[in-house]
Amino acid sequence: MQKSRSIIIGAGISGLSCGSVLRDCTVLEKENVIGGLARTLQFNDFKFDIGGHRFFTNDRSLDIFFRNLLREEIVETPRKSKIYRKGKFIDYPLRVSVVFQLNPVETFLSLFTYIHRKIKPLTEHSFEEKTKNLFGDYLYKTFFRDYTFKVWGINCSNISKELANARLQRVSLMRAIKHAFIKDKHIKSFADKIVYPEKGISRIPEVLSSGLDIELNKQVTGMVYSKNRIERIISNEAEEMACENVISTMPITQLIGFLNAPEDVKVAARSLKYRSVICVFLVLNKEHHSKNHWIYLHGTNLSGRLHEPKNWSSCMAPQDKTGICVEIFCDKGDKIWRNNDKEIAHQVIRDLPLIEKFSIEDHYVVRADYAYPIYDINYSKNLGIVKDFLSSYQNLFLLGRTGSFRYINMDTCLEEGLRLGNFLLRH
Ligand SMILES: Cc1cc2nc3c(=O)[nH]c(=O)nc-3n(C[C@H](O)[C@H](O)[C@H](O)COP(=O)(O)OP(=O)(O)OC[C@H]3O[C@@H](n4cnc5c(N)ncnc54)[C@H](O)[C@@H]3O)c2cc1C
Repeated sequence: MQKSRSIIIGAGISGLSCGSVLRDCTVLEKENVIGGLARTLQFNDFKFDIGGHRFFTNDRSLDIFFRNLLREEIVETPRKSKIYRKGKFIDYPLRVSVVFQLNPVETFLSLFTYIHRKIKPLTEHSFEEKTKNLFGDYLYKTFFRDYTFKVWGINCSNISKELANARLQRVSLMRAIKHAFIKDKHIKSFADKIVYPEKGISRIPEVLSSGLDIELNKQVTGMVYSKNRIERIISNEAEEMACENVISTMPITQLIGFLNAPEDVKVAARSLKYRSVICVFLVLNKEHHSKNHWIYLHGTNLSGRLHEPKNWSSCMAPQDKTGICVEIFCDKGDKIWRNNDKEIAHQVIRDLPLIEKFSIEDHYVVRADYAYPIYDINYSKNLGIVKDFLSSYQNLFLLGRTGSFRYINMDTCLEEGLRLGNFLLRH
């Protein structure tokens, strides 16, 4: 058996940023590549992320760290995103202009219901009430109710109001109105630039991983533990490694299964769910599809959002062609997930608006499970029970989006990974 050292489970942004500080550690990654969700795939001459990944932070020192990490590899483009709804494009993120992009009756209803909610706010139990208070009932019904269901697979009344804090990032109709006059640079959703590594988001994990001891194709499958310590990590059902500290970025719901959790903790863990995403990449025989970075596809069709990597960086596609990556939000194992790649691609092509079918030359499908922690109405209580139990292991640290079941982006993953690495070095 090897000498005891820190073991990091998962080579995503969180695990790698922590490792880049610790240095003396081993990173175990179940896949044959690093990056986790922040991964760029190559398909012939085309590159695309699992859903376009922009980097944004309000933290000055983190921004400097990021810029020093990638230096001249960073490209910045003015952000362009739209909602596509009932044959019309609407600015996204929702700005005050949205009210005037609707027809006069809708404009009246938007303003009337917004003022009504300002006078008579709802008690906020769920995403539904919180969003109605922020935007009024009409804009909620038009832009949030059905699209939120499409993304999360559950009704807004069963989603925690905390999702609004994480997803909307302090945007409201009032802030949108203020932003029209005085730019608010601190609201992530209003960020007007896309900051991106020119060869794709994989460059962040690649640079972070430099010089680290990373073992690919090593899936953690069990743990040997005493009352309050993890003693050894088991990978691929057979190999054991002694460990000093364990930093876990793997799904918290799987981690629980390795430990002797009491029944109430197991029940709480079972109720925590992650949403998955399927990306369908379409090669188009044309220079550009649109000028947008993202298009949010409202309506009942399968496709939820698309991005055009070439608009993020010209390195992502050959000069005379482009590609679009269409995201389908789903649950692992559901009907669409179980379909084969060809069926999924054909279904997307059949019902995707905004596309000339004859321009599609090829397609490529990739699935990502554990993509979004689902904040259902009871998640906070259940997560508390699970985390309380796990905190009894003194050398076990939960980290990252998947590992700590938090709807966070790369900036927070990077920041918290660096912070944990520094904390462990000091103790
Ligand atoms: C569609 C989509 C779009 C996004 N867009 C943006 C964006 O624009 N900007 C932004 O900042 N963020 C964005 N994000 C969020 C961002 O991808 C995540 O916040 C970040 O990549 C999470 O990193 P992580 O290391 O915490 O988790 P992960 O990336 O999930 O890494 C966990 C790692 O653990 C590995 N693992 C799991 N189980 C085991 C095991 N048993 N043994 C060994 N290894 C294991 C996994 O293979 C994975 O590599 C987006 C996410 C998605 C899904």
